[in-house]
Amino acid sequence: MFKKGSKLYSILTGTCPKCHEESMFKNKNPYILSEALSMHETCSNCGTKYKIEPSFFYGAMYVSYAVGIAFAVAAFVISFVFLKASINTVFASIVVTLIVFLPVIIRLSRNIWINIFMHYDKSLAKKK
Ligand SMILES: [Zn+2]
Repeated sequence: MFKKGSKLYSILTGTCPKCHEESMFKNKNPYILSEALSMHETCSNCGTKYKIEPSFFYGAMYVSYAVGIAFAVAAFVISFVFLKASINTVFASIVVTLIVFLPVIIRLSRNIWINIFMHYDKSLAKKK
């Protein structure tokens, strides 16, 4: 399932949603905060324009809400169910998780958002 051609591959690696060959982001590390959101205009391999329309990625904010909840639930399950922490500690762990993973959450939601509108095209992938 986790290989080129599946949406999951593009979402988790941040690669071009059409050819899965190039990273959409200028810097692959989301924790370089000044570059966390800087993306290439087009894919250098297949020429796909990432911003379909102006402020296209505003829609990713709705996705980031869902992704943020997924991270919060994960933090809750780990701290409350597995570590049996007190409710205050659980709350703190959720807040810390959301802050620490914010760059990842933002990128994941952009990847999910663009993958809703674009689909993998085998003919655009690099021919080896
Ligand atoms: Zn591409």
